[in-house]
Amino acid sequence: MSHVMDTYARLPVAFERGEGSWLWDAAGKRYLDAVAGVAVCGLGHGHPRYVAALREQVGRLVHTSNLYHITLQEKLADRLAAISGMDNVFFCNSGCEANEAAIKLARLYGHKKNIEAPAIVVLDRAFHGRTIATLSATGSRKVQAGFEPLLAGFVRVPFDDLDAIRKVAEGNRNVVAVLVELLQGEGGVNVCHEGYLRGLREICEAHGWLLMLDEVQSGMGRTGKWFAFQHSGIAPDVMPLAKGLGNGMPIGACLASGAAAKLFKPGNHGSTFGGNPLACAAALATLEIIEDERLMDNAVKVGDHIRAELARQFAGLKGVREIRGKGLMIGIELEHPCGELVGQALERGLLINVTVDNVVRLLPPLVFRMEEAGLLLATLVPLITQFLDRQGASQAAAQTA
Ligand code: PMP
Repeated sequence: MSHVMDTYARLPVAFERGEGSWLWDAAGKRYLDAVAGVAVCGLGHGHPRYVAALREQVGRLVHTSNLYHITLQEKLADRLAAISGMDNVFFCNSGCEANEAAIKLARLYGHKKNIEAPAIVVLDRAFHGRTIATLSATGSRKVQAGFEPLLAGFVRVPFDDLDAIRKVAEGNRNVVAVLVELLQGEGGVNVCHEGYLRGLREICEAHGWLLMLDEVQSGMGRTGKWFAFQHSGIAPDVMPLAKGLGNGMPIGACLASGAAAKLFKPGNHGSTFGGNPLACAAALATLEIIEDERLMDNAVKVGDHIRAELARQFAGLKGVREIRGKGLMIGIELEHPCGELVGQALERGLLINVTVDNVVRLLPPLVFRMEEAGLLLATLVPLITQFLDRQGASQAAAQTA
C-alpha cells in the first residue's frame, strides 16, 4: 500500500534521469517529453548551465527566511520588472500562491476604495489553483466539487466575452478586478480573440478595476514572448507567475504595477520559503539561459511548425475539431473524449497530456528541436488518426446495430 495520498491518477511510469527533451525510466526506456512537467521545465532536463548554477548556490546558501534581505531576490525582482515593465514582485512557491497574492491585492484595493465586499470577475473554464480561494476562482465544477462552501467574492462570466463583463460592470458596484488567463491552459488551450485584452483594459480603466493576468502557464517564454500579454502591447496591473519561472525549482511570483504595487505593507502577506536564495538562483539562471539561447524564438519556430504540420496532416480528417495555441502551448481538440491517447503515447515513448477530456495538450520544453518535433508528429499523428478511425468504426457499428 502506498503511503502517498491518493490525489493523482498517475501513469504507470517513474523517471530516473533526464537530458534535454528526453526522460529515461528505471528500465532504461527513453521518452520524448512534450509535457515538460506541465509547462515547467522550459530549459528541458539537466541543462548544464542551470545545473551548475543550482550546485553553486546549494553549496553557498539555501535558505535564510524573509526576516532578512535576500540579495538574489532583489536581483530577480529587478530582472522580472525589466522584462515585464511592471513595478514590483512578491515571491512565493507556486501558481496557486501567486494567485492568492493577486486575490489579496484585489481585496485590499477594494477596501481602500471603501468597498466592503470586493468582488473579482473570473472566467468560465479558468484554472487558478486548488487552494480554497483559487479553486473558488477556478471555472471547473470538477475542481470545486466536495470543497464547498466556496469563497464568496467571484463573479463568473463566459470566456472571451467582453459584453458579459460590460454587463457585470453596469450591475455590480462591488467589482474591483478581473482575473483572466489570456491563454487558458487546463481549460483546453483556449485562445481569446485579437482585441480581447485591449477591450478588457478599457473596461478596467473605465471602472477603476485592476487587470490581473494569470500567466502561471502562459508566461516565461512559452508563447514566444516572456508573457502572453506582450503579444498585444497592453500591460496588466497584476500578474501571477510560477511554473516555468524556476524550471522545476518551486518558485512563484506575483508582479504588480501602479496602485497595485503600493498595497502590501509589512505584515499584510508573507511566505516562509518565498524567494529563498536557492529558488531565486534557479529563476535567475532560467531567465539568463532563455535569453542567451534565444529560446523564445525557438518556441515560435518549433511551435508554428508543429501547429502547421498538425493542420496539414489532419486536413479533412473527421473528428479533429481545432488545432490552436501559441508558441509551444498547443491544443488539439477532438470530437471524442481521448484520455486513452496518453497511455498509448506513453507505450510508444512519448509524453503528452489530455485536458478537459477531449483536448490533447502539448507543452514541450522551450529547447524542443525541429527533429524532436518531427518525432513527436511521427508518433502522435498516426495515434490520433487510428483513435479517430476506431471512434468512427464504433459509431458506424452502433448505427447499424
Ligand atoms: N494558474 C494557472 C493558469 C495554472 O495553469 C496553474 C497550474 N496548472 C495554476 C494557476 C496553479 O499552479 P500550482 O499548481 O503551481 O499551484
